[in-house]
Amino acid sequence: MPEPAAPAISASPPPPRPLDEIETWVFDLDNTLYPASCRIFDQIHRRMGEFIAAHFSVDMDEAVRIRRELFLAHGTTLRGLMTEHGIAPQAFMEYVHTLDLSAIARDHALGTALAALPGRKVVFTNGSARHAENILGHLGLDTHFSGIFDIEAAGYVPKPDPAGYDTLIRQFAIDPARTAMVEDMAKNLAPAAALGMTTVWVRGDADWAAEGADAPYVHHVVDDLAPFLTRIAGAPRAAAVAATLPVR
Ligand SMILES: [Mg+2]
Repeated sequence: MPEPAAPAISASPPPPRPLDEIETWVFDLDNTLYPASCRIFDQIHRRMGEFIAAHFSVDMDEAVRIRRELFLAHGTTLRGLMTEHGIAPQAFMEYVHTLDLSAIARDHALGTALAALPGRKVVFTNGSARHAENILGHLGLDTHFSGIFDIEAAGYVPKPDPAGYDTLIRQFAIDPARTAMVEDMAKNLAPAAALGMTTVWVRGDADWAAEGADAPYVHHVVDDLAPFLTRIAGAPRAAAVAATLPVR
């Protein structure tokens, strides 16, 4: 007799939940809780290149080539470095996440929206918890989150691999049917919807972020998170039902 899979991924997941019935909000971090226009990823990529150049004693052009190759083959550069080269993740994460955050401004509007939004809020990131703490502190948002689920907690298996979502659900005793996931990389919402979560894509221009954005697993599309969350928090029941309609 086959063992039941837990949690089950249904071939036809349930429809999205009205947003005023959400109990747990799962937020991605980078380019979701702050805009991609801050270009923090440019810094992260540069530092990844520096780490690789030093580790392999190659110039930056070769380091960039290695980084891209590992990224394409393994989903993240770190995963490739660990799998193919046995590199310990901690030193890499610490180096690439030592960043100049001056391009990121404190986000009072998002802080106010998160404070008003009912339910528990958790960060789910392919980065490290320390990186998440740095960014949240810099944004002035750290007090709003009850937990950070990082790449170490996911066993260094990055989103969108379903394994991390399963561990997140167990660790935080999440009911997927009453959970919303908010992300800038549309394809990372696929496993969330398959598990029964309601999904919110924070729209971006980059091809790699928009891949999958037209798929049925994207339930809501938002350009600016603060007003979207404020609308849910302040909505009376009738308005809240209207807010569940896709805004695309
Ligand atoms: Mg992101």
